[in-house]
Amino acid sequence: MARILRNQSFPIFDFPPNPPNHSHKTILVPPAAATMEEPMLPPGVAGGGTMVNVLCCMCGVSIAPNPSNTCASCLASKADVTRGISTEATLHQCRGCQRWHKDAGKWLGCELESRELMSLCLSKVSGLSGRNASGDKVRVVDAGWVWTEPHSMRLKVRLTVQKEVQAGTILQQSFVVVFVVRNQQCIECQAEFRQGSWKSLVQVRQRVNHKRTFLYLEQLILKHGAHRGCLSIETFRDGMDFYFPDKGKAARFISFLENVVPIKTKVSKKLISTDDKSNVSNYKYTNYVEICPLCKDDLLYLPSKTARNLGNISRLVMVKNISNVIQLIDPLSGQTAAMSPEVFWRDPLRPVITAARSRLTRYIVLGKEAVALERNVSKKGTSKRNRNKLAAVILAKEEDLGINDVQYEERSHLGYLMRSGDVNEGYDLKELQFVDDDAEEDRSAGKLPDVVVVRKLYGGVATNEADAAKKRIFRLQRLDVDVAESMRSRSAKKDQEMEDMDEEDFLREVEADKEMRVNMNLYKSELLAKKEEGEGEGGDGNGANGSDNNAKSNIDNDEEDDDDQQVKLDELLDGLVLSDGPDKPMADAGGVAKTDEFGMQYYEEGEKATKDGINYAGRDEARQMESKDAAKPVNVFGKEFMNKEFKFL
Ligand SMILES: [Zn+2]
Ligand SMILES: [Zn+2]
Repeated sequence: MARILRNQSFPIFDFPPNPPNHSHKTILVPPAAATMEEPMLPPGVAGGGTMVNVLCCMCGVSIAPNPSNTCASCLASKADVTRGISTEATLHQCRGCQRWHKDAGKWLGCELESRELMSLCLSKVSGLSGRNASGDKVRVVDAGWVWTEPHSMRLKVRLTVQKEVQAGTILQQSFVVVFVVRNQQCIECQAEFRQGSWKSLVQVRQRVNHKRTFLYLEQLILKHGAHRGCLSIETFRDGMDFYFPDKGKAARFISFLENVVPIKTKVSKKLISTDDKSNVSNYKYTNYVEICPLCKDDLLYLPSKTARNLGNISRLVMVKNISNVIQLIDPLSGQTAAMSPEVFWRDPLRPVITAARSRLTRYIVLGKEAVALERNVSKKGTSKRNRNKLAAVILAKEEDLGINDVQYEERSHLGYLMRSGDVNEGYDLKELQFVDDDAEEDRSAGKLPDVVVVRKLYGGVATNEADAAKKRIFRLQRLDVDVAESMRSRSAKKDQEMEDMDEEDFLREVEADKEMRVNMNLYKSELLAKKEEGEGEGGDGNGANGSDNNAKSNIDNDEEDDDDQQVKLDELLDGLVLSDGPDKPMADAGGVAKTDEFGMQYYEEGEKATKDGINYAGRDEARQMESKDAAKPVNVFGKEFMNKEFKFL
């Protein structure tokens, strides 16, 4: 295979002939610079005398003039040939038939490490074909597989690209692209499954326009392994379907749900077949499980009778948490109450505002004052602990800063967390109108507070950093689910955007609520793990990645901060090991591979790659591999690795 070898040494230049030394225009190379810089020019090469050398503006070595008057080595040191090429992409694999999603409903059967899969992978990398974002064309000269942790749902490819950065100067750079593998049932498997082997289906739904409750439920399911024995999980915009091989497993799952979220259940059965001889009938059961449509941080305006029945709590309450009951809190007094699902379903109510990001306003904390509750506020319903948390917070809208001096002073059950300069999200009740007539009347009459603080923001989200989400110190495991085909095809991009938004909102909830996190497993993020690794080795750990410090900054100043809600290091579990990986037919190393227990052919790690003439970086090499090498100058373009259609050449 004609391919550029990874460790080939560079550079190899064609330098212009050295101009004669007697020319008055010649600029002599300072000896010091010359000895420091390689490559040295061949001395005394006779030239025509027309070429005039200049000194590289960065290192001072003598070179032929070029537009930037910089030598190739210096150009390489500051150039990034990979700019505009994505380093992360998503692949979808069908769990049923192991095929990979190509495009528009086309599925491709191909083995791991194969050429076909490589073609597919590269076609998913944006910025490789044609001109990239910066208008330049890159040439892919090599692509090789890089070992990834089994079950990591990741594939890695090391790409080597070349680009002519200025006339006559070609730079080459290698970098790693990570492919996230998502499970997605193909249409054929879907159809087969529908006629297939399941006996009991649990359809979980929540009639709200976001997925935050399901994101939470997913974490509960994972923590408790409640999905064990489930044949397939399918996700929809408004819920999830769980398929079970028998009634018992489904019943166990439903009883799990009952314990963690407020639900109501309806069962229906359908006769599939009857055996006349034995008189045994075969049924399929469908359990429709509806989760109460109230979600964490929703704002409610209770009917006065309900409020009275809930220990005389204020009518304006927030949903504090969702468990087998709906936990409510009066944000102004800290009084709490629990509403059972039975009470809810008897007389269902809708939130006056749901905690979507579009309904939340950012506030800056300017100060706070202690509050003493008046005697007529029920102390019975408010624990001493909650009373102590209460404070009057002085706030300004973030968007008002530097524009006006409008301030708000409101009580908040989160008051104890607030320090000057903190950033909150809250409901602006001066602006937000309610649908509920009763509530709207009281609101417009000014009987309700101006601001209800919903949560404190942490880390980069508080400071509005563009890549705040990436700098989180924790990450969550996700359930391996099938995305319903109908949902994808309709408006896949919009759905994805909404999902991403819900996920980010959910993470903000998680970040601000310790009680909620008790029910979940939080894992150290890769960023944090890397940072810790760096410290362990005594290295500086930040290197080119100065942003690492940011990830830990909110932990480092714990001592002066009595914030008991923010994520602490000791809450985080080490290395996330994902339970269902891409279902590799490739088994653990050992012996010459033939067929596995399911009769599927598999190869040793790297064996298929070798057979297909593709480089393979094994475990040890992979661990030492930089995610991006520095650019290096090369004298000629290498052979193109694939054609425009990502076919091997
Ligand atoms: Zn230079
Ligand atoms: Zn399939």
